[in-house]
Amino acid sequence: MSTTPATGETPATELEVAILGAGMSGLCMGVALRRAGERRFLILEQAQGLGGTWWHNRYPGAQVDVPAPLYSYSFAPNPHWRQRFADAAEIQAYLEQVAERQGLRPHIQLGCRLVDARWDEATGRWQLSAADGRRWAARHFVCSLAPLHTPRWPDIPGLEHFAGRRVHSARWPEGLDLRGQRVGVIGTGSTASQLVPAIAPQAGQLSVFQRTAPWVLPRLDRRYGALHGLLARVPVASTLVRGFWYHLLEWGRRGFDEGTLARRGMQRTARAHLHRQVRDAALRERLAPTIPLGCKRLIYSNGYYPALQRDNVTLVTDAIEAVTPTGIHTADGREHALDLLVCATGYDVEHALSLPVTGRGGRTLQQAWADGAQAWRGISVAGFPNLHLMLGPNTATGHTSTLLYIEPAVAWVLRAITALRRRGARTIEVDAEAQRHYNDALQARLAHSAWAGCRSWYRAANGRNIAIWPGFTREYVQGLRRDGVALHRFGG
Ligand code: NAP
Repeated sequence: MSTTPATGETPATELEVAILGAGMSGLCMGVALRRAGERRFLILEQAQGLGGTWWHNRYPGAQVDVPAPLYSYSFAPNPHWRQRFADAAEIQAYLEQVAERQGLRPHIQLGCRLVDARWDEATGRWQLSAADGRRWAARHFVCSLAPLHTPRWPDIPGLEHFAGRRVHSARWPEGLDLRGQRVGVIGTGSTASQLVPAIAPQAGQLSVFQRTAPWVLPRLDRRYGALHGLLARVPVASTLVRGFWYHLLEWGRRGFDEGTLARRGMQRTARAHLHRQVRDAALRERLAPTIPLGCKRLIYSNGYYPALQRDNVTLVTDAIEAVTPTGIHTADGREHALDLLVCATGYDVEHALSLPVTGRGGRTLQQAWADGAQAWRGISVAGFPNLHLMLGPNTATGHTSTLLYIEPAVAWVLRAITALRRRGARTIEVDAEAQRHYNDALQARLAHSAWAGCRSWYRAANGRNIAIWPGFTREYVQGLRRDGVALHRFGG
């Protein structure tokens, strides 16, 4: 069905639910809708393939740092994982398979870039416009733009004047040949820790520019054999394996709290790992972290420290002063000549801000979030009826699988859609006071946490933590179940 267009505009196709993004959360929402018998939905994806993060991140060495049995949907265990920590290509293939088996293909529109989302009070629908002129009018808008999808270039003078090749890790060009090249990597976060060991053997010379030394723990990886495939095919066994990892990682959450046994254990393990892998005391000192453990994402790697000690690799810890046409100039006066500059410098954490989203009364999310993104449980925002965010503000975790947050959020959205229909209402919207209460408590807890201890992508420029869920997973899930839709208002 189509709504009447304003003069000259393409008519808008009516949908019950429009989902933005075919990453893990968008696909999960699609599966839930299909299982509930809903067919009037579309997943709109700007890339030419599905998988979101796992479609875009193709840098050498890209892997997940959560065990694969827990980095799979609970309804789709995967007997084909090749290793405990799956690589990007495996995960993308898994998501393709899920989309195929769950009948999502006809619902996915690839190469579709949304440019505007606007709440229309008169029709009680979200009016969505794509760059190619297509339009939709959806009762519900599920916005599953991951927070980490817009690459951040470092704010370094002269970057744009670099005469060699410059790439961002999140948009790795296919077939990039590093042989004989003088390569510089800026950044020592999760991405660089995977990228550096993978490219070090290929590069002619590799300089790694470190501003902050990360905490690095051993990676307990292993190849999966026939036994894993068997366990994943037997529902009871796969639930037990998943349960094992769930509880182990939940226990690891204690490592973020000051004075706990888990924290002391993790610090000791990381220091012993550094000591074991780096024999040179001077280098060890430069690699010893000075930030509180956990305030940035922990790194699990067995290959990072050894890669830094290769003959063709140099760790540079002098501050970068400028990028010149031929390389990088550091504070000690040295010029590091480079052919290729790789920025593993993370993302601009925007949540939904890369798309103009306009709610009630013409107020945009940009305006509502002027002091930092916030929502109720990362899902609903006051003033934005029938908008459901996936992996919204304060739903990232430092200790476990993001899917453990996606699946309950999807279940909650389905419950909200059903409740709305049952009541014969047109809109559901979180109570502004409930949202404020929720965020005040969250921020108070974060202010005294490990995450307050350093600069990271978790925090906005004003210091507000807009990304991390500070608790255990069960607290988030129980909170969602307990509150249900009680803190939301229904409108006619
Ligand atoms: P990131 O954690 O934000 O790290 C960016 C790095 O770039 C930091 O080392 C930062 O230094 C450095 N940097 C930024 N601007 C700089 C500048 N102007 N000069 C010098 N250094 C600069 O980004 P990321 O490594 O891409 O990781 C982002 C997130 O993606 C992770 O936290 C994680 O959630 C996710 N991720 C996950 C995996 C996985 O295995 N599942 C893998 C990769 C990424 P400072 O620390 O000093 O700021």
